[in-house]
Amino acid sequence: MSDPTNPLSRRGVLKFGALALITTPVLLRTAQAAELPQLSEDDPTAKALGYKHDTTLVDAAKFPNHKADQNCANCKLIQGEAGVVWRPCLLFPGKAVHKDGWCAGWIKMA
Ligand code: SF4
Repeated sequence: MSDPTNPLSRRGVLKFGALALITTPVLLRTAQAAELPQLSEDDPTAKALGYKHDTTLVDAAKFPNHKADQNCANCKLIQGEAGVVWRPCLLFPGKAVHKDGWCAGWIKMA
């Protein structure tokens, strides 16, 4: 019979392993997103695509197809965890975009 107070018991090792398997991907994703530098609106690609941290500030004359309810948080290209303010985007590898931002690459999230 195993001793439940023994941290090296087989059950204890299995519990720790299961907990590590569940929490590690979440912690890694959170850490990766937090470590990404924020995309600058002055980045050449960001400028070309009209990226703004705030979708309400998009130049309507340059981007007439932009709609006020479009933002990074509801774009198909956003990555990371919902609710996080700065998140990775497939269009800007290695940078984080603001959840309220927008660029001309916006695609409706399915
Ligand atoms: Fe935001 Fe989508 Fe543009 Fe990325 S592609 S910056 S998530 S609107």
